[in-house]
Amino acid sequence: MNKNYALVTGASRGIGRAIAIRLAKDGYTVLINYNTHLAAAQETLSAIEAEGGHAELLPFDVTDGKAIETALSQWDEAHPNEHISVLVNNAGIRKDGLMVFMTESDWHSVLHTTTEGFYYITHHVLGGMLRARYGRIVNVASISGVIGMPGQANYSAAKAALIGATKALSKEIASRKVTVNAVAPGFIATDMTADLDEDALKKTIPAGRFGQPEEVAALVSFLCSDEAAYITGQVINIAGGMG
Ligand code: NAP
Repeated sequence: MNKNYALVTGASRGIGRAIAIRLAKDGYTVLINYNTHLAAAQETLSAIEAEGGHAELLPFDVTDGKAIETALSQWDEAHPNEHISVLVNNAGIRKDGLMVFMTESDWHSVLHTTTEGFYYITHHVLGGMLRARYGRIVNVASISGVIGMPGQANYSAAKAALIGATKALSKEIASRKVTVNAVAPGFIATDMTADLDEDALKKTIPAGRFGQPEEVAALVSFLCSDEAAYITGQVINIAGGMG
């Protein structure tokens, strides 16, 4: 019901791209957010259109509150009879390092990308969902935010914050038929993990392999479906048995 627009942050590459393609197949018009990689975002758009789906590019930096307000207000004005019924807060970065060596910049940039992005975008989009008495918010956290990973104090903190916000917000809005859940992927094969030693790391994963972005997208698709209406405030690990 109420299938309309789905905004996916960080949809130019990796998990976000797979989620955008999957939600377009589910019938949403997808707003493809990205920050710097225009060509990659255009590839996501082309992949959606090649399958007969619909999408628009919506660039902004998720840490820039003013840029977000401008982009989303302009979108609202251009689409007076439409609303965003699905929001996937996916954009994220990692800057790993042992805490003893971690710079202030690496601490703040990782925290800000996840937490500011969640705040500014959710804050803008939520009113429309509450008025419509329908909405789906999915936050892409990480197994690192659930169990803590060495060398990732910044990233684990950012994702744990996102999980806390997910649980709190779910209790505020459940009565308005707006759900908010988090997914917590383990190691997924994307640009973000391209520098890791996959052969060594997969020995630590019970399933014995990295996951694929499309596997995360399938979970997000379910959480965005009408069938998932009674699931809210949850963190669902998708980590091949880690956690
Ligand atoms: P990725 O391949 O590095 O892609 C990151 C995406 O986020 C890109 O589309 C990028 O846009 C966007 N992005 C980064 N900073 C942004 C900003 N300030 N504003 C707007 N967009 C921004 O990463 P991924 O592996 O797909 O990860 C996606 C999400 O899953 C992240 O939140 C990550 O923490 C989480 N995750 C990933 C894994 C994994 O193993 N890969 C595991 C657990 C959780 P540009 O292309 O424009 O730079």
